[in-house]
Amino acid sequence: MINGVTPRADLHTHSDRSDGALPPAALVAHAARHGVTLLALTDHDSADGCEEAAEASAELGLRFVPGCELSLGWRGQPIHVVGLALDARSAALRAHFDAIASRRLDRLQEIGERLERRGRLPGRELAARVAARVALPTRTHVARELVALGAARDVQEAIDVWLARGRPGHVPVEWPALADGLATLRGCGAWPVLAHPHRYRLSTGGLRALAGEFADAGGVAIEVSVGGISRSDFDRLATLTRRLGLAASCGSDFHDPATTWNPPGRFAKLPDDLEPISARL
Ligand code: AMP
Ligand code: MN
Ligand code: MN
Ligand code: MN
Repeated sequence: MINGVTPRADLHTHSDRSDGALPPAALVAHAARHGVTLLALTDHDSADGCEEAAEASAELGLRFVPGCELSLGWRGQPIHVVGLALDARSAALRAHFDAIASRRLDRLQEIGERLERRGRLPGRELAARVAARVALPTRTHVARELVALGAARDVQEAIDVWLARGRPGHVPVEWPALADGLATLRGCGAWPVLAHPHRYRLSTGGLRALAGEFADAGGVAIEVSVGGISRSDFDRLATLTRRLGLAASCGSDFHDPATTWNPPGRFAKLPDDLEPISARL
């Protein structure tokens, strides 16, 4: 992990409107305490928390950027694209979010079935508990319930053991195609950022193909600095961004204060020669 200078822009964070632990206003206060002065809220497939976060930011003197993190599909695998400075009133964006919420609710039921049948766990009850509480169920929510049941020690283990590909509770989702998601973001004025590309377990050639298609479809920036990234991944992403002439983004991907190594605002400074996407915000 890089212990760089703490930049003041954090352009990738989650609230409890998706799988983050804090309500939007508490997230803003937490980010402010960590020295963040330019903050984007980028919940999975939702911009519901942006209004509350904008109000809290105004009160605390932070500049706020409304955003989201779309789950999209590319060559059969899930890819995340952050959209920055979106117009949350866009009808097309809302339709996109609504479609994903219902797909996620269907997946939740199916995960419950599979945990019941293949995992011999009370999966149906578990799914019902999650569905009663959240509008946008993610695997993180299911993982928290699995931890509460004693089926795993922590959220990461619950995902790795029960919910990841090849595991008993895994349910593949057909996410909207990369190009369609980018068109939706561009259509509502948002800057699309390819999120944490080092996490997709792609070969160098695969990563170049993804980033090339992303740029061709209207993507503008690559997330080069992410909380917890290694120096070699950071260098690899900086080189790729340079080669494609794209802008660079940075963010913690903060979810939960309990993950103490990943507070808002803590990640390496972007290389000086890359254009920071924050300059366009
Ligand atoms: P979902 O979008 O419902 O598939 O949920 C994925 C969420 O689970 C991500 O946004 C992460 O916050 C969390 N997560 C933790 N570990 C993993 C992992 N190994 N693979 C995918 N998601 C993970
Ligand atoms: Mn998440
Ligand atoms: Mn992500
Ligand atoms: Mn994220």
